[in-house]
Amino acid sequence: MGGLDRYLKRLIESNSLTPVSPATQSIMALPSHGYASLSREQRQRWLVWALNLLSRPARSGPLKPPALKAVKPRKASARTAVAAGPDSDDAHPVAHVDAPRTGLEAPIAALRGVRTALAEKFARLDVKTVRDLLYFFPRRHNDFAQIRPIAELVVGEEQTVIGAVWSASATGIGRRLRGTEALVGDETGVMRVVWFNQPYLARQLRTNSRIVLAGKVTLFKGQKTLENPEYEPLESEELVHTGRLVPVYPSTSGLPQRTVRRLAKEALDGYVDLLPEMLPPDLRARDGLLPRTTAVRHMHFPDGWDDLRAARRRLAFDELILIQISVLSRRREYQERGLAQPLSLPEDARRAYVESLPFRLTGAQEKAMRQTLADVAQERPMSRLLQGDVGSGKTVVAAAALLAAAASHAQGAMMAPTEILAEQHYRTLCSILCGEERPAPLAELDAPYLGRSLRLALLTGSVPAPAKREIREAIGNGEIDIVVGTHAVIQGSVSFQSLGLAVVDEQHRFGVMQRAALREKGRNPHLLVMTATPIPRTLTLTIYGDLDISVIDEMPPGRKPVETRWVAPEERDGAYEFVRGQISQGRQAFIICPLIEESETLATRAVVQEYERLSSEVFPDGRLGLLHGRLGSQKKEAVMRDFRDHRLDILVSTAVVEVGVDIPNATVMLVEGADRFGLAQLHQLRGRVGRSDIQSYCLLLSDSPSAEARERLQLVEKTQDGFALAEADLRLRGPGEFFGTRQSGLPDLKVAQLSDVPLIELARAEASRLLEGDPDLVRPEHAPLKEEMARLWERVTAETH
Ligand code: ADP
Ligand code: MG
Repeated sequence: MGGLDRYLKRLIESNSLTPVSPATQSIMALPSHGYASLSREQRQRWLVWALNLLSRPARSGPLKPPALKAVKPRKASARTAVAAGPDSDDAHPVAHVDAPRTGLEAPIAALRGVRTALAEKFARLDVKTVRDLLYFFPRRHNDFAQIRPIAELVVGEEQTVIGAVWSASATGIGRRLRGTEALVGDETGVMRVVWFNQPYLARQLRTNSRIVLAGKVTLFKGQKTLENPEYEPLESEELVHTGRLVPVYPSTSGLPQRTVRRLAKEALDGYVDLLPEMLPPDLRARDGLLPRTTAVRHMHFPDGWDDLRAARRRLAFDELILIQISVLSRRREYQERGLAQPLSLPEDARRAYVESLPFRLTGAQEKAMRQTLADVAQERPMSRLLQGDVGSGKTVVAAAALLAAAASHAQGAMMAPTEILAEQHYRTLCSILCGEERPAPLAELDAPYLGRSLRLALLTGSVPAPAKREIREAIGNGEIDIVVGTHAVIQGSVSFQSLGLAVVDEQHRFGVMQRAALREKGRNPHLLVMTATPIPRTLTLTIYGDLDISVIDEMPPGRKPVETRWVAPEERDGAYEFVRGQISQGRQAFIICPLIEESETLATRAVVQEYERLSSEVFPDGRLGLLHGRLGSQKKEAVMRDFRDHRLDILVSTAVVEVGVDIPNATVMLVEGADRFGLAQLHQLRGRVGRSDIQSYCLLLSDSPSAEARERLQLVEKTQDGFALAEADLRLRGPGEFFGTRQSGLPDLKVAQLSDVPLIELARAEASRLLEGDPDLVRPEHAPLKEEMARLWERVTAETH
């Protein structure tokens, strides 16, 4: 029964056939549901033809295949793995045959007893096809592997019993039946079994039938009792629900565990062998990974905990290697799209520049600068992420790269997400490169160590139109060496004569698309992305896996750590008093409102209310400003400017101020509802203050933090290390939360843990080895891998839109 199809499938999987062999051709001629789907006459025709083909001398020309049509396309083509019609792509027929679309992609309705209503419930869990079901993994497993006689049952433990039904009846109050109560006995004793809410069960439990029960044993009126146990009749050929490690699935109402288990079992029995092995055998052997089908099987029904562990490891590896292949290919793609202009800063110019700075570089800055300069000196376009906590001094590193561009007669651009930040960068650059503190939007400044002058320009929305035109023209003519501006402006209408380097500040607001758009501006500029968000190493290996990373993990000496304190609810007035004190000393303060993610409208309403309350009741004499996401960008910039120029004492804001504006005079950061923020976020907020040598403070208010929240806040109190906080955040809240929902651009990981550094590194190493030998994954044996990749990113795009 179905034996020939199975045999053919094995033959194909063994890879012993070449794509053009007669055997392959004859298999390919079968319709997608396999030999078994043919009528008697058609089977005969195929056989005669195939034997003919096989017995002919090689090279004797093609033999036209007979027209074959499946007469009974079976719903579950479980055993008919030979798919792909005769007209399929001849280049890699084997791969095609390996991955039939029908079987695994069949809707779960193809399984026995799945009606529309049930299919809909599964759909709510995102399980639509048989493949989805195979990859719908249990949340956990209950260990029911130990079967015990009733007399030996231990109260309070999960155990399994086999017994005969003595009696079973529906129970209830009044006329409404509520549950089932049964007596079950074996040679050693008798026990009570109750199911609440399942009165219909009474009818199924026939007296004297043998059943297997598994659950937690309790004591009721002195009698051992099982409440709501898992159960199944003993006849079952295999103990799916009891007597083993029993899978417990994520569930939705109306979808009983039993049903999911039964269907999972059926899907495994009928379909799991259709999953093509996507890892090459040598890789699996090297890393000790289970075959894919075994792993999927064991995820559901392991024979022991070791099985389960090995299965998880294998499938986690699958997820991770797919991500790694994808980021590594992306990286290769842009590296190969075209060459960049090598930018070099002569060593004596570099030294002169570093010596002209009013401070000594930290070791970390020195290292990041050398890495960056070495990279831009190559023809291969750089894509580097420069990571460093707020105030760690990223700008001087970026400035060195911009100098290299200027020294090589190429242009450099530096972009920021807001006008104020662009202005700030412009001033900083003019100051550290040329010692100019009050530069005009278009400035020609002396740069002694280059032996010539530098021409710099600021290009934002609020530069007056005529000046803007002039600057654009100058950029187009190549008269400007370095332009600083907002992303919007620079990406919008500026054409460069020779853009050699683009520096982008604040990665979070600068996505992959924008990176691509930027590349269009120059032939293929080097790219330096700066971010102040400490990103845990595991994420840099995955989400930012396509970038090279430099980390500035050392603060310039002499920084005073921001004194951070959790303020108990009853100390709130004291906190306000403290803010008043700072203001009377001429300092400024931020007050951040609780994070409200549900809706922007609610968030706005909350911050407006808080602003009004603070203005009228708490700080009636202070000058308060209000900032939130609903303000237009001009209004936002105006408020930030007022605050920067000290026309305001207190800025009441939602978390939008996260981005790094430098306001050295601000010394207090007061965060309301601090327990709602992530640790990394709190650290970012804290980074808004403490930007000068004046002592600064961060006050964390939280009305009724849970013990766990309290613990998290204590972490922020204790450490100033952004990386440590980011790691903790990732561990405590997962990557989705870490980046804000769905910003990670990472596929949903079902099995892999982003904290599993060794496995991530292994996957990266294997991915890079694989791509070295077959960069585009065109080899037939890599086809399943390639197909899985496509599936994965389809899912990502579907989820992120
Ligand atoms: P960020 O990494 O947040 O962009 P910046 O580059 O803006 O940091 O630097 C923050 C401040 O620290 C600037 O005022 C800068 O001049 C100063 N700075 C940078 N590097 C050093 C250093 N090695 N020693 C002392 N001060 C430094
Ligand atoms: Mg900065």
